[in-house]
Parts: sequence; C-alpha cells; structure tokens
Amino acid sequence: MARQFFVGGNFKLNPVSRAAKTSLVNGLNQASLDPNVEVVIAPPTIYLIPTAETVSNGVKVAAQNCYVKPSGAFTGEISAVQLADAGIPYVILGHSERRTIFHESSELIAEKTRVALDNGLSVIFCIGETLSEREANKTAEVCQAQLTPVIKLLKEEDWKKVVIAYEPVWAIGTGKVATSAQAQEAHADIRAFLGKEVSAAVADTTRIIYGGSVTAANSKELSTQPDVDGFLVGGASLKPEFVDIINANK
Ligand code: PGA
Repeated sequence: MARQFFVGGNFKLNPVSRAAKTSLVNGLNQASLDPNVEVVIAPPTIYLIPTAETVSNGVKVAAQNCYVKPSGAFTGEISAVQLADAGIPYVILGHSERRTIFHESSELIAEKTRVALDNGLSVIFCIGETLSEREANKTAEVCQAQLTPVIKLLKEEDWKKVVIAYEPVWAIGTGKVATSAQAQEAHADIRAFLGKEVSAAVADTTRIIYGGSVTAANSKELSTQPDVDGFLVGGASLKPEFVDIINANK
C-alpha cells in the first residue's frame, strides 16, 4: 500500500512573538503545497488554538507534548482531553528533548501514546539513538527498546493513527544530517521490527519519517529512499525552505 508522504514542522520553543507565529502561518497559507502530502505543524502550546483557527491549505496542527492524566493537580501540564476538545488532531510524543532534558522514559511515552489515542488524537512518536549508541552499533537495539513499551500498549488498529519519527539525536539541530543510506537502513530495521512484533500489515502501512537537520537541500535525496515516508523538521520549519521540504517529493 502506498503510504502518504508526511511532513511535520516542530517549532519547539519558537517563535517568541505572536506576530512571528502569524507570519509563519501566513507563509504556509499562501504557499503552493503538494496536495498529496500530509502537513502538520507543531507550535508551542500557547499558540495552538490561534494557529488551528488561522491555518489553511490543508495544514494540520500538533501539540509538542501532553500528559497522561486528563485533569487535576499537575501544574504546567496539558492533557490529551484538552487537546481533543480544542480540535488539535495530533501530538508529538517522545521527542529526544523530552527524553533527555525532561527525563521522560519510554514507558511514560508509551502510556502518553495510549492516552492520546484513547482521546482520538494521532501521534507522532519519536525515537532515535545518540552518537555513542550509533558508534557502538546499537542503533537498531535502541530504537527497538524505545518502541517495545508502546507496542505492548497498542492494538493493531491503533497504528493507523501513529507516525514514527526516526530522529538520530546526533543529527537533531546539529547540521549533521544522516546520509540517505543511514536513514534507509534505520527505517527498514524499524519496519522489520514492526512486522515481527505487530503485524506485516502494520509494518507496511505505518509511516516512518526522518528527522534531524533536514533542509531543502538534503530532503530531495532522502525522500527517494523507499522506507523514508516524510520528515519531522525542526529549525528549517521556521524558514521559507519548509515549503520546499514539503514539496520535496513532487
Ligand atoms: P532539526 O530538529 O530539524 O532542527 O534538526 C528536528 C527535530 O528535533 O524534530
């Protein structure tokens, strides 16, 4: 089955003004985007609702995180129930910055995924190895360990609403993009693991996107790899070249 190309823009903690956020959204609204690509942008929480209310051109909106509890005494958190109520269709979970800076475990991220899906959200589920893990030839092992807890909590049909983002930590925000061969190998391993642990159908239909220093210049070649189904873009999603990345596959 052909998998629809997916491009996510992870704004992280950017931009720092509503005016700059509006100009990013306006830029996307006015751009000519490949209609065959699913495009999802993830602004900071404070901009989620105004972004969802103003973005057009088929672009969807994602939160960058959510908590496992629906409500209560959890200062600073946002829940999947609130995201769903606000009409936000996607959430990014398990980004390496959440795993490292905010000490989120694969078990917690799996639980968040379960809760997000139970509330009708779709999930961009991030995994990836550090440089030392790659150098120790542990890339596949690390990705598998990060996937195992979520595989245990999901039913086969849940995978329709999950996009896996393979983001090697050494490539995120460093300007050091994975080669097409490195990305393809990691994606093929992840797909094979889904085939073994979930089902052949889930392996075949689940989108596995690449993230880590994606630019307009490197996106074209990466997009030709058979197991690369799109991108999760950080820094370049804040620039006009994001449109070229969306259109990389045209
Ligand atoms: P980058 O970030 O494109 O700036 O490397 C990617 C990400 O963290 O999702």
